[in-house]
Amino acid sequence: MRILLALCLLLTGISVRAEPLHAERVTDQVWFVQGEAALGSKANRNFISNAGFVVTDGGVLVVDALGSPALARELLAEIRRVTDQPLRYVVVTHYHADHIYGLQVFKDAGATIVAHAEGRDYLESETARQRLQASRDDLAPWIDATTHLVAADRWITEPETHLQLGSYDIVLRHVGPAHTAEDMVVYIPQLGVMFSGDLFFRGRIPYVGQADSRRWIASLERMIEYRPRIAIPGHGAVSTDPLADLRFTRDYLAYLRRTMGDAAHNLDPFDEAYAKADWSRYRDVPLFGAANRMNAYNTYLLMQAE
Ligand SMILES: [Zn+2]
Repeated sequence: MRILLALCLLLTGISVRAEPLHAERVTDQVWFVQGEAALGSKANRNFISNAGFVVTDGGVLVVDALGSPALARELLAEIRRVTDQPLRYVVVTHYHADHIYGLQVFKDAGATIVAHAEGRDYLESETARQRLQASRDDLAPWIDATTHLVAADRWITEPETHLQLGSYDIVLRHVGPAHTAEDMVVYIPQLGVMFSGDLFFRGRIPYVGQADSRRWIASLERMIEYRPRIAIPGHGAVSTDPLADLRFTRDYLAYLRRTMGDAAHNLDPFDEAYAKADWSRYRDVPLFGAANRMNAYNTYLLMQAE
């Protein structure tokens, strides 16, 4: 069936990424898969976000579930390739579609799904239902009528929670509202490894969207306090200098707030303020052209309201 579908898609001119996922080893215990830097499509199977897993003497912890059940099954196969430890937890960094449509596979495989309680509102919202329907329309056969939203088995309400997995202490830190209300990062002190969700982006200008940048900056400060040696972001390559990357995102957000805040405060028109600001530090960073003006405008509106 899968082969037939692939053939049909090929014949209709849509190329299908035939290669199965391959998990890369980050440290002795930590693995990850890196999604494509693209929007979700039939061709990429909605493989546009990262996921990772930690193998301990007390079982396996997975962070995020990828953008379709098929991808999740392949990730599960990769886990089985490297260990026969039991699957224990899946931690959801946030409930965005590309990170969660594989959850049902891990749930069926016996994992306990853990997420921050702020995600529950979104999960039960009309927005989430509409988004799933749109994905079924746009991303079939990878997202179809059998794909469903999966609630956490354990909703975290504390700012910081610890999971004990064998001899490993796993720290779950709520850092939202930043990218989303429910943002959670996963930190393993013994390994110096952090799974950072979509809180920072490596080597590119972030999409700020409607995010509350003041709180986002505070979240980045908290992540810097952990002093991770390695960070696995929700998108893009692994960071081996996470402090520099965290600071870059923090400083960019702070710069937006400073320049746009002054303009909003002085009632300067946005276009004038944007033209006057010195963007030289960021102009050559990837996605500057696509994202910077919109980021500045959103920040301008935000600062008017603050
Ligand atoms: Zn994401």
